[in-house]
Amino acid sequence: MIARGFRSIIGHKDVIRHLQTAAASGRVSHAYLISGEPGCGKTMVAEAFAEALLCEQAAVRAKTPEQFDACLSCSSCKKAISDNHPDLIRVIHEKPNVISVGEIRQQVVGTVEIRPYSASRKIYLIPEAEKMNEQAQNALLKTIEEPPEYALILLLSSSPESLLPTIRSRCVELNLHPLPDRDIMEYLTGEMHLPDYEAKMLSSFAQGNLGRAVYAATDETFAERKNKTLGLVRTLHCLDTASIAEAVRLIKEDRAKVDEVLDLLLMWYRDVLLYKATKEIDQLIFSNEIILIQDQAKAASYEELQEILTAIDRCRLRLRANVNFELALELLLECIKENCNA
Ligand SMILES: [Zn+2]
Repeated sequence: MIARGFRSIIGHKDVIRHLQTAAASGRVSHAYLISGEPGCGKTMVAEAFAEALLCEQAAVRAKTPEQFDACLSCSSCKKAISDNHPDLIRVIHEKPNVISVGEIRQQVVGTVEIRPYSASRKIYLIPEAEKMNEQAQNALLKTIEEPPEYALILLLSSSPESLLPTIRSRCVELNLHPLPDRDIMEYLTGEMHLPDYEAKMLSSFAQGNLGRAVYAATDETFAERKNKTLGLVRTLHCLDTASIAEAVRLIKEDRAKVDEVLDLLLMWYRDVLLYKATKEIDQLIFSNEIILIQDQAKAASYEELQEILTAIDRCRLRLRANVNFELALELLLECIKENCNA
């Protein structure tokens, strides 16, 4: 996403307001921990905050705190946008799963005493902060405890609970919440020009996470997975044991994404249940599949549909508990077949 500035960010208004008020009043803390699940917008919020603080025009242009935003055209903004601002440091790490003490020393602790080059602040952005090992966190602690007045540290994390309490207690912690479906719908139809029915399906799949929606809208393997899952839903009632085993084998080939298959199944059978209860097409996620939804809603009882929804949750729990993959999936598909005969 090439969104820039607070004004381009969808949702998260409370957190943005908090940061803008701090920036406008000059009462910016030395360390923030921005948390929220992967894809929810942590980086966008942190970058917008950093860029607004570094911008040469933001303070002049803002008549009220909610106007405090990067201008995107001054030389500082241009440098920040091209990832070329000497006072905005993004901490990077070599190994995928760990930020080492050496990396924190070299990129943060060892440079923080050097005054900013051109701005009045020096800002460190640490994505995936939970990947700092204990020594790395301890090395960072001193900087967070007694930072030079110009320093600002922005930690981003999808699992803040794995940070040391000593680090967490010294940060202002801001949690990004899931967005309402309608905000995601609006983005998908407005910015990405998707048709309504597709935007509706994707925003429901996204569960409040814009990054997940954009991924699902643009990733070809997702579209393929969705079509295969709907194909399964269409044909499951007439599959024999061997065909079910084959379907499971195909899901297993792509097992890292099995949660997406389960999410899609859950969305589908919730639709069937919802239609059975209300007979309303407008509310459905898969409204363009209305004929099949009608047939299945007629063929299955409320209890049977509930049984399917429970089985999907059970399958997810079994997979998390490392129950045999084939077994967990076969039990699920057999249960769906048994309870929904259309
Ligand atoms: Zn600017």
